[in-house]
Amino acid sequence: MTMKNENPGPVIRLLDPSTVNKIAAGEVVDRPASVVKELIENAIDAKARTIRIDITSSGGEIAGIRITDDGCGMVPSDALLAFTQYATSKIASIEDLNQIRTLGFRGEALASIAAVSRVTLITKPRGSDTEAGTKIVVYGGKLQEQHETGAPTGTTILVEELFFNTPARKKFLKSLNTELAHLHTILEGICLAWPAVSFRLFHNGREQLMTDRSAHAIDTIARIYGSDLAQELIPVSHTLPFMTISGYIAPPSLSRKDTSRLIVAINQRFVSSPLISNAIKEGYGTLLPRDRIPVAFLTLAIDTALVDVNVHPTKKEVRLSRENEIRNAVREAVSTALLSHNLIPAAGTQEPAFEPLIPSTDEPVSSAYPQDSAVPAAVFESTHPGTISSDQRLRQTELPVGARTPATASKIPFMNVIGEFGGIYLLARTSTDELFIIDQHAAHERILYEQVQRRSVREHQSQELISPVVLNRTPRDAAVIRDLIPALAQEGFILEDFGKDTFLVRAIPVVLGRAEDTGVLDEVISDLVRPDPSRTVTGRERLTRIIACRGAIKAGTVLTMEQSQRILDQLRLTENPYTCPHGRPTIIRFTRTDLDAMFKRI
Ligand code: ADP
Ligand code: MG
Repeated sequence: MTMKNENPGPVIRLLDPSTVNKIAAGEVVDRPASVVKELIENAIDAKARTIRIDITSSGGEIAGIRITDDGCGMVPSDALLAFTQYATSKIASIEDLNQIRTLGFRGEALASIAAVSRVTLITKPRGSDTEAGTKIVVYGGKLQEQHETGAPTGTTILVEELFFNTPARKKFLKSLNTELAHLHTILEGICLAWPAVSFRLFHNGREQLMTDRSAHAIDTIARIYGSDLAQELIPVSHTLPFMTISGYIAPPSLSRKDTSRLIVAINQRFVSSPLISNAIKEGYGTLLPRDRIPVAFLTLAIDTALVDVNVHPTKKEVRLSRENEIRNAVREAVSTALLSHNLIPAAGTQEPAFEPLIPSTDEPVSSAYPQDSAVPAAVFESTHPGTISSDQRLRQTELPVGARTPATASKIPFMNVIGEFGGIYLLARTSTDELFIIDQHAAHERILYEQVQRRSVREHQSQELISPVVLNRTPRDAAVIRDLIPALAQEGFILEDFGKDTFLVRAIPVVLGRAEDTGVLDEVISDLVRPDPSRTVTGRERLTRIIACRGAIKAGTVLTMEQSQRILDQLRLTENPYTCPHGRPTIIRFTRTDLDAMFKRI
């Protein structure tokens, strides 16, 4: 039987070298940043001490990438061979991969880049006694020029028309800024891994980044991210028989939402390693709020036999043996560094690691806590000059006895004050072993706010001043105040226009406490006439907030135990005890379990 040839199967053919090169190139060079990476790595492998990167762009595209180094350079025959695929001076056999000390070894980069662009190479080897170097131009993988030329020692490679013959790849390039951002990320990582090399990056002739040669990574960090950050950093160092960990980490308060400053180098190779990144995060433990990413610059020097660098065409990932030991060591190095820096676990500095006490809406809070307990008798009288005035303020927010049981049960438990910290924070505990930290100003502000807000216009209480206070303002402020007189009267401020931008204040709201405390009055009026940039709240709401803020016990005011207790008791009677009117937390809770976890008891 003879085969019919109507539907022939696919024909297998050998691809021509130029197609092979283009396909291979796609793996190594996917965007301008990877060209920069490969060329810088070649310069480092050539033992360059200074490397200059010049990027030119026009029409929203990167037009040229030029890398100039003062490394070992190449003799003419090597310069030509360098463009051949799998031509490398770095390894001779597969065994060499076990002890690789260079960044490159696959012999692919130059061939790949030249396959998809126009590359101009000028090079002269170190120690050459002539002026003459070599110039080679390769375009789309084809040799265009090769001749002698005057050249300094070292190598300059210019890449233009990147992806001119691979339109699909070109189409996938992002905006100029995105491509430049990728380039920066890679360059910063390499700079940090190689502090002993000086890097300079220029974009259209303007210097973007520059590092000096230094023996210390911290100098490079300061150069790139600023000395403010560098000063905050905590050194890390940890040694195992097969590995040393060194570098710097930032206190948890500087943690970020992105990974841009979590930089890891393994054997001076800037890599992305989820294993190490996670170990660093674990080292911060509960110090790090969820979904925050620490700032850390770590360098791992690992026995080369344990690192497989040949798992990724661009070598941006590596495979590690003894993963568990390495992960544990990194975690421990980080937590030891944090501990030695006296960063005793605290509820975060910028964003609390522990949630402020805001209940989820479906959580029944009303029955959770016993309704009333006797106020503890931890009373002592202080002769502190501020005590009397604080007392006045607190008395204004004390509800009459009959009104003390709130309609709904308290949302926060009954607490006993056990101390204060920094004149700002009250410390309290419950009978169920919970520790609370309360911001005294924020808490009192909340209490005052709800009371002022609840008062209906008719109910406002104002107290007449024994002698009226004279307010003298600028013409601009006076105009604002004049307009506010009726609204102010509704809140209990009775002002009289005395002419010539002067006002007489005859009465103020009772909640503001001591009538003689004209400072508060002044603050309220100043806040009111200041333009409100947000304009999100109505006039009355704004006034209420200002009165609450200015009338509340200030941070830094020393309270007696008894006064502190009164704040807590008053806070229990509020509708929303959790935040001040501006949304900042008033109270933070630590359970025994939280503390046990922080002290690693569980
Ligand atoms: P690899 O770096 O993997 O060896 P490349 O294609 O990147 O492969 O480079 C090929 C060879 O060209 C290198 O092995 C090196 O000998 C030479 N070479 C490339 N760039 C430079 C340079 N900047 N200075 C000196 N030699 C270089
Ligand atoms: Mg290379």
